[in-house]
Amino acid sequence: MDPYRIFADIVAGRAPSSKVFEDPDVLAFMDIRPMTPGHLLVIPKVPARSLAELDPVIGGKLFQVGQRLAAALRESEVRCDGVNFFLADGATAGQEVFHVHLHVIPRTPGDGFGLRSRATSPRRADLDYLAASIRGAVQRAEPGGADAQEGTWWLT
Ligand code: 5GP
Repeated sequence: MDPYRIFADIVAGRAPSSKVFEDPDVLAFMDIRPMTPGHLLVIPKVPARSLAELDPVIGGKLFQVGQRLAAALRESEVRCDGVNFFLADGATAGQEVFHVHLHVIPRTPGDGFGLRSRATSPRRADLDYLAASIRGAVQRAEPGGADAQEGTWWLT
């Protein structure tokens, strides 16, 4: 398995996959090593190794398709009491295949799936400090962002 090419090979039909949805931009298929039965992957057809390389419009479509698949899972024969979405962006985040993919994971009680973390309880001042830093990064990345896009970026 080439972690840079396998999903491009699936898109091109050079590698096998069990497809559940396809449109001009997006493909969804069964994960070959499911974390729970029915585990799906939603990928862009264009090659994008990371979110930084992915057109945000296509990124939005990944979520739209994932949302429809979450509903479909609940109506299918897959056991599905809940659904988790998961996306690993970068090796440190657990990414193993370097073609962006959204995991859609059906959940049942006691299925063993979970995220490990060490949650903390920071002070409001610490949250505000990091929020300001992130706002600054948004402003630098998208100078016209607040006006050009719908919704509000809290930039001041
Ligand atoms: P990541 O850790 O990068 O978020 O997830 C990669 C996922 O791709 C894993 O869940 C793995 O099982 C799945 N995967 C890797 N190779 C293949 C393949 O050839 N076919 C399919 N259907 N899934 C794959």
